[in-house]
Amino acid sequence: MIEEFDNRAEAVHEWFLASGRDLPWRQSRDPWAILVAEVMLQQTQVSRVIEKWVEFLALFPTPQTCAAAPRSAIIEQWSGLGFNRRAVNLHAAATVVVDFHQGVVPSGLAELLALPGVGQYTARAVRVFAFELEDAVVDTNVARILARQLGRKLSQTEAQGAADAALPAAGQSWAWNQAMLDVGATLCVAKSPRCEQGCPIQQSCAWYQNGLIEPDPALGSASVSSKQSRFAGSDRQGRGKLVEALRQRPVQASELAAVMGWPDDHERAKNVANQVVTDGLAITANNVYLLPTTNSQTEPL
Ligand code: SF4
Repeated sequence: MIEEFDNRAEAVHEWFLASGRDLPWRQSRDPWAILVAEVMLQQTQVSRVIEKWVEFLALFPTPQTCAAAPRSAIIEQWSGLGFNRRAVNLHAAATVVVDFHQGVVPSGLAELLALPGVGQYTARAVRVFAFELEDAVVDTNVARILARQLGRKLSQTEAQGAADAALPAAGQSWAWNQAMLDVGATLCVAKSPRCEQGCPIQQSCAWYQNGLIEPDPALGSASVSSKQSRFAGSDRQGRGKLVEALRQRPVQASELAAVMGWPDDHERAKNVANQVVTDGLAITANNVYLLPTTNSQTEPL
């Protein structure tokens, strides 16, 4: 069994050297830079993250510089990445790192999980990609691979257990995990996996060996993302429009409905705007909404 894993690790490593993606954060082992990349990558495509990551680190190269900046500066810099609450969480995480970890992103799983906006994947990603510790990361791509490899839907515990069990010998976790992310992103894709285009784990793939018979075991498996609900007309779209407007200027309460794209639904606009305030992305004062310049928050209207 060990030998089988070792053979697989070798094949995966060779594939990674030849076909792995060249991503700028892979040149870094700075835990802050890795944390920023992983938070950005949580819900945004790699191609959109690359430039923003470079820009963000030029402005906020350390947890100290991020924590010292007003929250508005982080939200402004998050433009184009979407899911703006991540900016609020990252700013809060930087503050925790400064206040409780002497300004150094910790390597302990429990300490990382205690940072705002950091879940199981992100915590392990920082441990593996910054500190080169022996952990296995499970994001949506890896979860899809694991379900297909085992030929059945997995619970979250089973998926993490399978990922841990597949880790090769000590010292290879950085490359192994990066390779798994790349196999998932480029070969073992959601629709029509490219098994015949050099997948290095084809031999151990139960679904492939069974002829890729439907249903795909990844469908409904834990941590495998399903189709997102419609964006057009959603509250999420209205929230995004409001935060984007706030990056340019303060917004009067009377303008909310127009700014958020629901000119005839002032009630909805007010409710969603108040949620934006509750989430720490805006403050209100004298019937005006604006980006929060401090960590304090006024009550929603
Ligand atoms: S053989 Fe196909 S289904 Fe199996 S892991 Fe590789 S790409 Fe995915």
